[in-house]
Amino acid sequence: MIPFIDLKSQQDRIKLQIDAAIARVLEHGKYIMGPEVQELEERLADYVGVKHCIGVSSGTDSLLIAMMALGIGPGDEVITVPYTWISTAEMIALLGAKPVFVDIEKDTWNMDPSKLEAAITPRTKAIMPVGIYGQTANMNAINQIAAKQGNLPVIEDAAQSFGATHRSKRSCGLSTIGSTSFFPSKPLGCYGDGGALFTDDDELAQRMRQIRVHGQSKKHHHPLLGLNGRLDTIQAAILLCKLGIFDEETKLRQSIAESYDQVFAGTTKVQAPRVAQENTSVYAQYTIRSKDPDTLNQQLKDNGVPSVSYYATPLHFQPVFAYLNHKQGDFPITEKVASQGLSLPMSPYINGEDLNTILSTLKEALPNE
Ligand SMILES: *Cc1c(COP(=O)(O)O)cnc(C)c1O
Repeated sequence: MIPFIDLKSQQDRIKLQIDAAIARVLEHGKYIMGPEVQELEERLADYVGVKHCIGVSSGTDSLLIAMMALGIGPGDEVITVPYTWISTAEMIALLGAKPVFVDIEKDTWNMDPSKLEAAITPRTKAIMPVGIYGQTANMNAINQIAAKQGNLPVIEDAAQSFGATHRSKRSCGLSTIGSTSFFPSKPLGCYGDGGALFTDDDELAQRMRQIRVHGQSKKHHHPLLGLNGRLDTIQAAILLCKLGIFDEETKLRQSIAESYDQVFAGTTKVQAPRVAQENTSVYAQYTIRSKDPDTLNQQLKDNGVPSVSYYATPLHFQPVFAYLNHKQGDFPITEKVASQGLSLPMSPYINGEDLNTILSTLKEALPNE
């Protein structure tokens, strides 16, 4: 089987640097908040183009910390999308707030700004769009609506879109707070769990740093409730190595996506992902829409090509959110995309032979009409 996400080839490429970086951490022994964490935070803030980066324990904890810093809790509503990984709505609910869903656009599969205003109520405390599969939502339109509605904070869940751009500005630097994940399979991944928060707001940055370490303002003084939300020094050291090749890897992902695009240009049987004109995508996934994803998945599998249907059960149908009382048809675009989405192998390191196998299998499965 061709790997769905190939982390081994990347490791082979930078193994010497990674080994040396880990060895340095073992030598200095500052496993918690060591110098690599601060170095990474500075490099990432610079990369994104914002004042503050705060390394955290995961892309889930980062959403939690962002909302805690905004004071979100019981009685509040946070607007997000039903077509995403569970964390996004899960962290809203964990804080006792209500996840309010807005449907997605049919071509980008991100929050539809034209449906956002109708979901805003006096209880709305934040808007949390997701950059699904590697491109950001229309953050410009969402920010404008948020500003008009009394300066509502916008948290970008950029776990899949780190490195992407919207109107030539980087994901994570587009709104009040940007949040990302370094889960191994994300575009910029570590060798365990990790994440980061980004903001230009000094006060919010300060609060998020405090919440990351049990609400501590100085040693043994805790004015806020917080958690253990720190990024490990070893993971920061690994990420510093990976950041050095990240832009090159993004270009390789984009060129694999182009090869896929060419195959799908000749068919109406599947819809290739569309990147909005004002966006670039890092292709966390290359996800197509097929009227019959199960058959296509089987045809690919028979030829050693893996494919995955993510979020086939959208969040408004997850049992944990049954209390929200959503019914079939509440978010029609989400429901359609969820039943048709199929993600193809994506990695900067798909070799020529494997890529030929994948492309020719796709061509065979999708004869030109
Ligand atoms: C992966 C992901 C998260 C969570 O990140 P973890 O680091 O796994 O906790 C949150 N939101 C989205 C959209 C994701 O894809």
